[in-house]
Amino acid sequence: MMEKTLIIIKPDAFQRGIVGSILARFEHKGLKIVGMKMLKMSPELAKEHYAHLLDKPFYPGLEKFMTSAPLLALVAEGQEAVEVVRKIVGVTNARKAEAGTIRGDFSMSTGRNAIHASDSRETAEKELPRFFKPEELFDYPLNNWESIYAEDEKE
Ligand code: UDP
Ligand code: MG
Repeated sequence: MMEKTLIIIKPDAFQRGIVGSILARFEHKGLKIVGMKMLKMSPELAKEHYAHLLDKPFYPGLEKFMTSAPLLALVAEGQEAVEVVRKIVGVTNARKAEAGTIRGDFSMSTGRNAIHASDSRETAEKELPRFFKPEELFDYPLNNWESIYAEDEKE
């Protein structure tokens, strides 16, 4: 089942200079990056994106954090992409996240846990249009070297 899912690389990753290392994990896995956008989250967008957490005691701190520095919003496409990406990301509390996951390898925090990913297909369908217009998504083949060489031969 081909799916698209939303990934957000959070402000702490920009501040710590680990954005490229995180992005590389998705490329290496074989997911196709079909959308990519640097932006700053407004308080309004934070309230919409984290509507399910507005009444939590940590929400004010979460909003302050998410609006403090730029984000990188990504759309990853692939078979079962939603589940695959959540597995690569690891559980919310980075101290509990498995080694080998992004949170497990790059963070020691529950709040400043480097990355967001849609938690289900339904959530992905709601989150994608929040950050990307249809014309900001790209369709292209994921090449392997054989097909690249085949194109070279024609030139
Ligand atoms: N969060 C937090 N404290 C908590 C739980 C969550 O600061 O006790 C933050 C954290 O940045 C997390 C985000 O709120 O990634 C969204 O929480 P959610 O439960 O949706 O976790 P996620 O889907 O990101 O794993
Ligand atoms: Mg969540």
